[in-house]
Amino acid sequence: MNAAPPPAPRKLRLATVSLAGCFGCHMSFLDIDERLFALIERVEFDRSPLTDLKAVGRCDIGLVEGGLCNAENVQVLREFRAHCKTLVAVGACAINGGLPAQRNHLRIDELLRAVYQQRDGLAAGAQVPDDPELPLPLNRVHPIHEVVHIDYSLPGCPPSADAFWQFLTDLMAGRTPQLGHGLMHYD
Ligand code: SF4
Repeated sequence: MNAAPPPAPRKLRLATVSLAGCFGCHMSFLDIDERLFALIERVEFDRSPLTDLKAVGRCDIGLVEGGLCNAENVQVLREFRAHCKTLVAVGACAINGGLPAQRNHLRIDELLRAVYQQRDGLAAGAQVPDDPELPLPLNRVHPIHEVVHIDYSLPGCPPSADAFWQFLTDLMAGRTPQLGHGLMHYD
């Protein structure tokens, strides 16, 4: 009598989020193209722009694009840290604040007034939006490691599709990710 085939290994659960980023890192992730078929054999997606789930569940891997520019970013990041065994800072914005951090040498109140009240073409009496549903902006844009512990960083603006694939292949195999020559860059 033939032995029953071994059960399929449990799929890893993967969550992704874009905080103060431009979604360019997510677009580069999708550029793994046909390798997405191999990926979904090994992982199932939790909260992500790809699933539109609004809350993150228990996950093996969390990929975080973007830094922290408002209070909601901080809350979402803390939820990811609490739910993801391995948390990865993806791209320059998550790692060091990136382009959004260029506002850090400006005062946030002056910046908001310049954008919403002092620009050419605004209606008379225009005000800085203050609806309580809007997330409060932070005085500075922060990299995510300033708020939670990060297990790994995947550098680049954005990291290339090949870098994503190498990184995830290593993580899925239980190895420490090693980006080879040409995959590690910071621009
Ligand atoms: S690192 Fe670059 S591509 Fe990624 S979110 Fe920031 S600006 Fe966009």
